[in-house]
Amino acid sequence: MIKGIIDQVKKRNPGEPEFIQAVEEVVESIAPVLDKHPEYKIAKIVERLVEPERQLMFRVPWQDDKGNVQVNRGFRIEFNSAIGPYKGGLRFHPSVYLGIIKFLGFEQILKNALTGLPMGGGKGGSDFDPKGKSDAEVMRFCQSFMMELCRHIGPDTDVPAGDIGVGGREIGYMFGMYKKIRNEFTGVLTGKGLNWGGSLARTEATGYGLIYFLLQMLKDAKKEIKGATVVSSGSGNVSIYAVQKCQQLGAKVVAMSDSNGYIYDANGIDLKAIQKLKEVERKRISEYVKDHPSAKYTEGCNGIWTIKCDIALPNATQNEIDEKSAEKLVANGVWAVAEGANMPSTPEAIKVFLKNKVAFGPAKAANAGGVAVSGLEMTQNSQRLSWSFAEVDKYLDEKIMQHIYRQAKAAAEEYGQPGNLVVGANIAGFEKVASAMYAQGLV
Ligand code: NDP
Repeated sequence: MIKGIIDQVKKRNPGEPEFIQAVEEVVESIAPVLDKHPEYKIAKIVERLVEPERQLMFRVPWQDDKGNVQVNRGFRIEFNSAIGPYKGGLRFHPSVYLGIIKFLGFEQILKNALTGLPMGGGKGGSDFDPKGKSDAEVMRFCQSFMMELCRHIGPDTDVPAGDIGVGGREIGYMFGMYKKIRNEFTGVLTGKGLNWGGSLARTEATGYGLIYFLLQMLKDAKKEIKGATVVSSGSGNVSIYAVQKCQQLGAKVVAMSDSNGYIYDANGIDLKAIQKLKEVERKRISEYVKDHPSAKYTEGCNGIWTIKCDIALPNATQNEIDEKSAEKLVANGVWAVAEGANMPSTPEAIKVFLKNKVAFGPAKAANAGGVAVSGLEMTQNSQRLSWSFAEVDKYLDEKIMQHIYRQAKAAAEEYGQPGNLVVGANIAGFEKVASAMYAQGLV
């Protein structure tokens, strides 16, 4: 039955390898749940789960600073609304096409279920590249993108947020346009600025949440973060705040990267310098070595996984750790890997980690802190209140990340694969969504 479902997904979604990869991992791990619930087989819950409820693709025309007309493609996949309004980020990157957005949307369904908050799964974005564009160009693009997207979203329907290439600046331009068109000030996007409906700790949430999840993994593995050597790929939102939390807890982070290359600093990364380069000046990470002569810059991304470390945090993008990189990490003695990016390890790399008893935190559990605090932003918007940083941070750690860890661990044990958080997270998320879909009938 499982093979039949996967074959059908392959046939229906040609040329979308990332989506197929995400589906295969989930569908293979939930087979025992289907054996326990034959009613899910009859109701074709899995066949329905892998088919988005709605897929939107649209033209985004805009004008650059020279007056030339540019045309990009916009996407929003409203994947599953069984447990709440569609929720998931928007990615602006030249590599974006339908298969990327579908893989991200599919992952989002089970991730959102794991948070314990009422959020369905969705994702969107565009092949627009904000890099090298002026603020005015980014604004015109965001306005044109929202001109179409606004018909499909709403605070009780679909609530987008940021992802790669979409940070506070882009959310601001899109929110402004939505508000103008609809004449409504609502919580339609999350990741908003603090004085117009944003939540404290949303910026930090994915990175901090990743480390709160890692701490639970380490407790069970009887290891300490204090004094550990860490490598964190990427230098965007997730990586920066994961590194910040690691440093607060006494770990030494020695390497970070961007899409051009990576830096190694044996003295420990100077995070303030990275934040200035990436968050303020929007420059390349190679510039770091100018003011840090002890550090070394190397072109190319993969090499970062050849650096010896205790803890590896893939925080950049999908499939950034392949089998060879995983083997190198293991040979260098890595004892924990926690995924901040979505699907950053290939299926072969995951096998290497599990086989070698490396504590492994899969993305849909370990990086759920971002969307969880987006959920709390929605709650605060509905209440017309703002919670303190400490309140949100404590909720994120104790009520969200620790809870997700316990759920994934318990499901892995219940289904005979103790310690396998990949299977555990997939099953725990699926059980919640499947029971809601079943209860709501054939819709
Ligand atoms: P950002 O755009 O803030 O940062 C992305 C970082 O990864 C940048 O340093 C970027 O380099 C690098 N990068 C992007 N694409 C590639 C590539 N193809 N190869 C190598 N490096 C690359 O994004 P986020 O930090 O928000 O997102 C990072 C990952 O975390 C993504 O997988 C995202 O889906 C996931 N995630 C994000 C959440 C969030 O709340 N933001 C929540 C959950 C998951 P450069 O500067 O050169 O572009």
